[in-house]
Amino acid sequence: MQHTDLYINGSWHQTPDRFDVINPATEEVLASVASATTTDADAALDAAEAAMADWAARTPRQRSEVLRRAWELMTARLEDFARLITLENGKARVDAMGEATYAAEFFRWFAEEAVRADGLITHAPSSGARIIVQHKPAGLAVLITPWNYPAAMGTRKIAPALAAGCGVVIKPASETPLTMLALMPLLEEAGVPPGLVNVLPSRRAGALVNHMLHDPRVRVVSFTGSTGVGRTLLKGAADQVLKPAMELGGNAPLIVFDDADMDTAIEGTMLAKMRNLGEACTAANRIYVHEAIAPEYTRRLSEAMAALKVGDGSDPSVDVGPLVNAATRDKVAEFVADAVAKGAKVECGGVAPEGKGYFYPPTVLSNVPENADGVHDEIFGPVAALQTFIDTEDVIRRANDTEYGLVAYVFSGDFKRGLQVCERLDYGMVGLNRGLVSDPAAPFGGTKQSGLGREGGHEGMLEFMETQYISASW
Ligand code: NAP
Repeated sequence: MQHTDLYINGSWHQTPDRFDVINPATEEVLASVASATTTDADAALDAAEAAMADWAARTPRQRSEVLRRAWELMTARLEDFARLITLENGKARVDAMGEATYAAEFFRWFAEEAVRADGLITHAPSSGARIIVQHKPAGLAVLITPWNYPAAMGTRKIAPALAAGCGVVIKPASETPLTMLALMPLLEEAGVPPGLVNVLPSRRAGALVNHMLHDPRVRVVSFTGSTGVGRTLLKGAADQVLKPAMELGGNAPLIVFDDADMDTAIEGTMLAKMRNLGEACTAANRIYVHEAIAPEYTRRLSEAMAALKVGDGSDPSVDVGPLVNAATRDKVAEFVADAVAKGAKVECGGVAPEGKGYFYPPTVLSNVPENADGVHDEIFGPVAALQTFIDTEDVIRRANDTEYGLVAYVFSGDFKRGLQVCERLDYGMVGLNRGLVSDPAAPFGGTKQSGLGREGGHEGMLEFMETQYISASW
């Protein structure tokens, strides 16, 4: 059964105001979903506060076992989640299965981390007092997630929050609220107590979230989405000095040196560019290829891109589904038109098909000029924008010349040179001879205007904890 109402205190609540969720492949209405108000937000925070008192007092092992059970249950239902992700987001089944698996893994990883909130005890060097350092649950957390990963961006926040002992209210993206609602019965079955996790879809995101950020019980705001909205939330978080975790936009450079293994570089580029059909903050946005290998690389990448099958993501033979909505598709088309007008060459794709669905074909552009809009903004679609370079210093400078710093990719057959370049890239994450960096066991996050804080790894749970130091004599 598809849930479409608000999830507060372990039960479903209808609202008079509702909004439609659209299937991007058919443009048909999939569901009419309840839209939360600030009154609903108060009820959700009341429930989370009450549930958290007991949850935070449970032993780490007890919290861990609930999270472990959530991983087992989700892993047994990956197909169901993948089907729903495809329906509301559009991504192809293979991408949706990848996301569902990744999403479930956060429950397993944080089940393992829940029992490792290690502290410290030591002697103060001068006074001889004991320094005791421990981590405690930070308090209620408001979680806000984007549409591009309807399951994983939620579990990447819920799992560490629960591991830390916090209660949460989550506001999923309006394009894709169904997956997060579908997760709630699974969490109940896993043993998450009523009220600990609440889900509030809303078509008034700004008012709803701002109201919660000003509730004195809230201590953490964890957001994944655009840098613009992130800035607004940071301003809202300032009033109560909330702990912010911000996973924001990217503008990932991908650098291919002339000594790179060509098969590895093409395979890595396809992953970095086409995972989630380019609708990813980690998507390779600017591809810099050494001039000596540019003709072969361009030909091989264009062949691989042109071979991908575009269509309704529900068809398992399809590689590339539609973009999430008309605005996203039109923005991708504008990036291509702008680059071509400024001198770029279309190697493949480049024309959106007629008919229903927000489709855009896998596209390769060569000779993309530095002043093209897509070099400075996230393309967020299946367009590979190629430039060339000769000099290593020059390509490092160009790669770093952005206000973003989420992820970069480097392909080189010389491991020493590869690592040296990685270290000089001002990015929170770098893939060396790999087109995929996301891993629940690693700290995901960016520098500069790509965000604050890290999700996953050992760092992820600490975003939901406060450090307490006790100075003791005995
Ligand atoms: P978005 O427009 O920033 O929306 C993200 C979430 O914020 C949605 O739930 C949205 O609700 C909500 N929101 C919008 N305005 C708000 C406001 N004034 N106050 C509070 N919440 C508000 O981003 P998007 O278009 O969904 O996602 C794409 C962006 O996310 C890209 O820039 C991408 O790079 C970034 N992203 C980053 C990461 C990362 O880990 N760094 C991962 C994935 C995506 P509504 O849907 O109801 O408007």
